[in-house]
Amino acid sequence: MIIAGPCSAETREQTLDTCTQLAATGVVDMLRAGVWKPRTSPGTFEGVGLKGLAWMAEAKRTTGLPFGVEVASKAHVEAALEFEADCVWIGARTTVSPFAVQEIAEALAGSGVAVLIKNPMNPDIDLWAGAVKRFMGVGIAAENIGLIHRGFSYFGHSRYRNAPMWPLAFEMRSRFPEMMMICDPSHMAGNREYIAELSQEAADLRYDGLIVESHICPEQALSDAGQQLVPAELERLIRGVNWRKEAVDDPEFVGELARFRDEIDRIDAEVFGLLSRRMKVSESIGRVKKENDVAILQSSRWGAIKERILSQSDGLGLSTEFLTAILEAVHLESIARQNSVMNRG
Ligand code: PEP
Ligand code: MN
Repeated sequence: MIIAGPCSAETREQTLDTCTQLAATGVVDMLRAGVWKPRTSPGTFEGVGLKGLAWMAEAKRTTGLPFGVEVASKAHVEAALEFEADCVWIGARTTVSPFAVQEIAEALAGSGVAVLIKNPMNPDIDLWAGAVKRFMGVGIAAENIGLIHRGFSYFGHSRYRNAPMWPLAFEMRSRFPEMMMICDPSHMAGNREYIAELSQEAADLRYDGLIVESHICPEQALSDAGQQLVPAELERLIRGVNWRKEAVDDPEFVGELARFRDEIDRIDAEVFGLLSRRMKVSESIGRVKKENDVAILQSSRWGAIKERILSQSDGLGLSTEFLTAILEAVHLESIARQNSVMNRG
């Protein structure tokens, strides 16, 4: 499922030109545009409202493609239904609000229109799942609900505007296995340079499609100018994504994969066996600290362990980010074990 269109409908000409060119590529299944824009800062472009819906309805008539629009309130849903939107989506800033989601769900109930639910801004799977349950709760069938993974807001700087945090999306997938899940590489990337790599990653992770922003003249876009692609670039992007197959029956491949998987299973058994032993040693440390009435956290010792392991990053061929994540998890569990020995007998 490929959804494409401008971040915002800005003018009739920009909306129709973009949509017509996108339809002509032959790679787009559905058009998108925002007409009410929930902006982080006031005073920036907040959408054209109902006019934009009329332009999208016109684009649908001229291209024959269905269209979707973002809704954030009951009034938005009513307008979208009036203009015969085929799909509505819940933006990341709306998914965080249970009141808004409930109001939208009730307004959409019984309409037969599909809803796509973006992940909330913050990495909270229960909040995302809660939004899905609100739509199911008003009787909207799972096949009319889809998920959009657009990445999560976080403090600090990295390559992407919103961190993908892929494992959170996998968790969501395992909670709603019957639901379509598509990726929004535009809002993840925040920059057109990174859209192709994120799209390929989504394809490799077996997503069901993409929603990508496209604008006839991205430099002049009134929102998300840095991440929009002209329709010709969008076509190149979509044709370049390799949607690999899930499996092949070639016996040589199957045998090779099975051997590597056996090896992984044996290594996992060793790794977790060693972690279990390490935690038992932590408990013994807890016992001697208790006997001697010494505090659990010895920062210099923890600093030394971290420094020693991280200095081996190159030799181990493991990134410092990965080593840090593992060390921190091990350290937390180790403190919890010592705590239970020292304070709960
Ligand atoms: C959008 O799709 O234009 C949008 C506002 O996205 P998000 O809710 O993911 O920020
Ligand atoms: Mn946008």
